[in-house]
Amino acid sequence: MELHYDVVVVGAGIAGPILSRNLAKKGYSVLMIDKKAEIGTPKRCGEGLGIEAFKKYDIPLDRRFINREIYGAAIYSPSGYRLEIRYDRVAGVILERKIFDKMLAYYAAKAGADVMAKTEAVGLIRKEGKIAGVKAKHEGEPLEIYADVIVAADGVESRVARWAGINSFLPPHEIDSAYEYEMIIENFEFDPDLIHLYFGNNIAPRGYVWIFPKDEDRANVGIGINGDNPKTAKYYLEKWLKENNIKGTKILEVNVGGVPVGGFLKELVKDNVVVVGDAARQVNPMHGGGMAEAMEAATIASKWIDKALSEENLELLKGYTEEWWAGEGQKLLRILKVRQISEKLSDDELDAAVQALSGADAEKIAAGDYKEVFKALIKHPRILLKPKMLKLLKEAL
Ligand SMILES: Cc1cc2nc3c(=O)[nH]c(=O)nc-3n(C[C@H](O)[C@H](O)[C@H](O)COP(=O)(O)OP(=O)(O)OC[C@H]3O[C@@H](n4cnc5c(N)ncnc54)[C@H](O)[C@@H]3O)c2cc1C
Repeated sequence: MELHYDVVVVGAGIAGPILSRNLAKKGYSVLMIDKKAEIGTPKRCGEGLGIEAFKKYDIPLDRRFINREIYGAAIYSPSGYRLEIRYDRVAGVILERKIFDKMLAYYAAKAGADVMAKTEAVGLIRKEGKIAGVKAKHEGEPLEIYADVIVAADGVESRVARWAGINSFLPPHEIDSAYEYEMIIENFEFDPDLIHLYFGNNIAPRGYVWIFPKDEDRANVGIGINGDNPKTAKYYLEKWLKENNIKGTKILEVNVGGVPVGGFLKELVKDNVVVVGDAARQVNPMHGGGMAEAMEAATIASKWIDKALSEENLELLKGYTEEWWAGEGQKLLRILKVRQISEKLSDDELDAAVQALSGADAEKIAAGDYKEVFKALIKHPRILLKPKMLKLLKEAL
């Protein structure tokens, strides 16, 4: 079968549906495909999303995909010092991503986009040396989708960018291994109105253990660690559960995945191929969250695809690379530098950091104001930043 569209989008996670919806609203013919038989399932996510994303990216706050409203976060140091950031308003939500992703695809379809589940991109179509579309398999049957613009929104394991000739190689050190149980938690105290983050070099090297409550006694309990660690993320998560006497006998779901936290794709566009979201490594390297970042990239990319198609000049697609790198890219680069400093802190320094931050402006910290974080750290007598780290810190701020 052969199909023709203005834009074909590979991947119906977060970036794909936002971009498809935006372009369909502008009147373009858009086809979004996903290899999953059911969009959104299985999930690979802690499902935490800041509340501001809904308004910013024009997503209805639909009860069907919101498990729980969250009012802040509690951060725990290796020795158990606790920093609490609590608001008197909803700060974020724990989603039900299986429904969220499907509803995002529904919004795209309602805006006019066509959507095909169980349709896997298997290569690119080239005509006279130019990329002309995507070769796919729909329920096992070959399908050729011709389009002016091809969007790679195919997540961390993206192949579309590579097929287009973009260097998307990710060394193990630049990826975090994540492992998560959705489980019932018994005999362990946690405030279900907050997310809980546990730090420590023996708890989660380079990362943290998280509890993202979906109910008063049900949560996503997960871990992210450096991908080149000789031990697995599962090993560290099981160890932490055991040390905290949390029985792993009521596990509703197991999620495993990679999180690209080491740097962002330089080349976001090649010819008529545009890369967005995890496929472009557009993830916050500090906490590993990538949903809001995928929405932001999709918003910028859809603006430039609209410009390029309306002015019949595909060179304009490069405006996406420039705009993303000038704003979001610079912000995430600074965060990456801060992460590179924080991953070198010893457990003693992490203890001291959590104590120091208790005196800082919690709202600013929560908003990602890393200047505020480091002002508090530098003032603390137990944090001795080495000259190399201080140099990095100056660059980051
Ligand atoms: C364990 C874990 C926990 C996380 N927790 C959080 C969190 O709490 N908050 C947060 O913000 N982020 C979190 N993230 C990151 C977040 O899930 C991603 O950043 C986000 O999903 C990126 O969206 P995306 O649209 O780029 O890619 P995805 O959501 O990965 O979507 C890509 C889609 O492309 C499809 N696809 C891939 N290849 C093909 C192909 N060849 N043909 C057709 N379809 C294809 C896939 O089936 C998939 O549906 C977590 C990640 C992991 C692994």
